[in-house]
Amino acid sequence: MPESTPRDPLDILRTVFGHQHFRGQQEDVVRHVAAGGDAVVLFPTGAGKSMCYQLPALARPGVGIVVSPLIALMRDQVEALRQAGVNAATLNSSVPAEESSRTVRDLKAGRLDLLYVAPERLVLPSFRAMLHGVPIALIAIDEAHCVSQWGHDFRPEYRQLSSLAEDYPGVPRIALTATADPVTRDDIVERLGLADARIFTSSFDRPNISYAIVERDNARAQLKSFLARHTGNSGIVYCLSRNKVDDTAEWLNRQGIRALPYHAGMPAADRSANQDAFLKEESLCLVATVAFGMGIDKPDVRYVAHMDLPSSIEAYYQETGRAGRDGLPAEAWMCYGMADVAQRSRMIDEGSAPDEVKRVERLKLNALLALCETAACRRKTILAHFGEAHPDTCGNCDTCLAPVATWDGTDAAVKALAAIYRTGQRFGAGHIIDVLVGKVTEKVAQFGHESQPVFGQGRDLDTRSWQSVIRQLTAMGLVVVDHAYGALQLSQEARPVFKGERRITFRRDRPRKATETRRALQSAVQLPGPAQALFDALRAERAAIARSQGVPPYVVFHDTTLRAMALEKPQTMAELGTIAGIGESKLRRYGAEFLAVLRAA
Ligand code: ZN
Repeated sequence: MPESTPRDPLDILRTVFGHQHFRGQQEDVVRHVAAGGDAVVLFPTGAGKSMCYQLPALARPGVGIVVSPLIALMRDQVEALRQAGVNAATLNSSVPAEESSRTVRDLKAGRLDLLYVAPERLVLPSFRAMLHGVPIALIAIDEAHCVSQWGHDFRPEYRQLSSLAEDYPGVPRIALTATADPVTRDDIVERLGLADARIFTSSFDRPNISYAIVERDNARAQLKSFLARHTGNSGIVYCLSRNKVDDTAEWLNRQGIRALPYHAGMPAADRSANQDAFLKEESLCLVATVAFGMGIDKPDVRYVAHMDLPSSIEAYYQETGRAGRDGLPAEAWMCYGMADVAQRSRMIDEGSAPDEVKRVERLKLNALLALCETAACRRKTILAHFGEAHPDTCGNCDTCLAPVATWDGTDAAVKALAAIYRTGQRFGAGHIIDVLVGKVTEKVAQFGHESQPVFGQGRDLDTRSWQSVIRQLTAMGLVVVDHAYGALQLSQEARPVFKGERRITFRRDRPRKATETRRALQSAVQLPGPAQALFDALRAERAAIARSQGVPPYVVFHDTTLRAMALEKPQTMAELGTIAGIGESKLRRYGAEFLAVLRAA
C-alpha cells in the first residue's frame, strides 16, 4: 500500500486487523516506535507482541525488517499478514527462486510493507547491498532472548545483530521477547546495544493457563487420563529423550489418541511434515523434545504436558506458555518423580558448561523442585521467581483448587537424614527407603545395613510417603543429589534439623486417584448449546477454506473470532465487519462464505 503521509496506527489496527482497541501497553509501544524511538518489549506470550512492530512498520514510510529465528514462524506470520492485505514477504532458503526475485523487486520498488529474515541473512554483505538505498521503517528483533547464552534458545547468529545501531543510524529498533528471566533481559539490552531504548514490561501472568503438577505413579496411565479431558483439542506432550518421544507417540496412537513425534534425531522432512500437521490440524497431540516449540504461533494449543521435569522454572514457563495464546482456557500439566531429579543433576554434571554456569543450573533446578513441592499457589510461586508479586491464591492451579494439607515432618526428616548419613551418603532414594522401612534386600545384606540403628526405624510410613519426604527434603535443599549415581548427600542446612533446632513441615501428597481435581476445562471452552453448534459449523467452514489454501486454520480466523461470530450471530456484511479480528481484507475475502453459514443457522 503506497502511502505518502504516516498513517495513524489505531486506524491501521481497525481497518487492517479488525480490532477496535489496543491491548494493554500495545499503544504505548506502537506510538513510541512509530515516532522513531527504540524499544525493548518484554510481554508474555499471547499479549500481542507482533502488533508492536507490525503497526509502526505500516505507519512509517519504508519497509519493516523483522529478524526471526525460524523459517516456520516467518512463513506463518507472512501468511497471516497477507490474509490481512499487508504486503509481507520472507527471504530464506525455503522460498522458491521466482518468489524471491519478486520479493526483491517489490523491496527495491518500495512496495513491501514487511520483510522477514533470519539473523544470518541480515548480516550478509549481499543482502546489505540489496537494502542499500531502500527506506527502512524499523528493524524488529523477534525472540530477542536468542541473543543470550543465559536463555534456553541461544543462537550465536543473534550476536552479530549488535552492529545494527551503527549500520542503520536513525532507524528505530525494537527487540521483543516473552522471556521473564531478569538475567536474560539485561543481556538482551547489552548485547543488542539498546541501553537507551525504552523498556516496556507487563505482568508475566498467563491467567488462562491452569497449572497442575502431580507425583509420578504410572506416568502413561496418568497422561491418558489427563488427555481424556482434551478430546478434540491440540496439545504438546514434552519428553526428555528422543526414544521416549517415539515410544510415547506410538503408545498414544495405540490408545486411539492421534499423536505424532518431533525431535532433532528425525529426518528433517519428517520433522517438518509433523510440525506442519500440528499447525494445520485441529485435534492432534504432538509428542516432542524441547527442540520443538520456539516461535510456534499456533494460538489454539489447549494443553502442554510434561512427562519429565524441565530444566528450570524459566524453561517450564516458556514451554507451558505455548498453551492458550488465544486467551481461551488452557492447561499445563506435569508429572514428575525423584528419578527426574537424579537425571537432571546428572545432565548438569556431565554437561560441558563452565563450573559457574553449572552452579547456576543447579540453583535453577532447585527452584523448580521447590515449585513442584510447594503447598502454596503454583502461579504465585512462578511469578515470585520472576520478581512479580501475586495474591496468595489464583483459583486456577491444582493447589488453589484443592488446597494441600501439611504435616509436621521433623521426626521423619531426622530419620531420613540419618539413614542417608549412616549409610555413607553413597546411595540413591530407593536404597535409603529400603533401609528406613527395614526391607532386607540383596544390597542391604551386601553392605550390612540391617545392623544400622536406623534400619527399620521408618516403618510408620510407607514407601510412597518416604519418596515424598525425600523429594521434599531435596526441594528444601537439605539433601543434594550427587553426580553420576544419584547418591543422596546432606547439605550444610541439614545440620540444624539434625540438632533439633529446626522444625520441618511437609506437604501431604494427595491420595492416589484423587490427583485429577479439575474437569472444568472442557466446559469452560464449550459455548452454550446452539452457539456451540454454530461454532462447530463455522469451524468446518474455516477448515475447508484453510485446506484449499494449504494454510493453518488460525491464519484464516482465530477461534476467538469464530466464537464471537457464534455468540453475536451477525447477519450482514456490516455487522460481520464489527467482529474483532475481521479487517477489511478478510471481510472481502471470506465475508460471504461465513455469512452464509451464519444465516443458515
Ligand atoms: Zn493458584
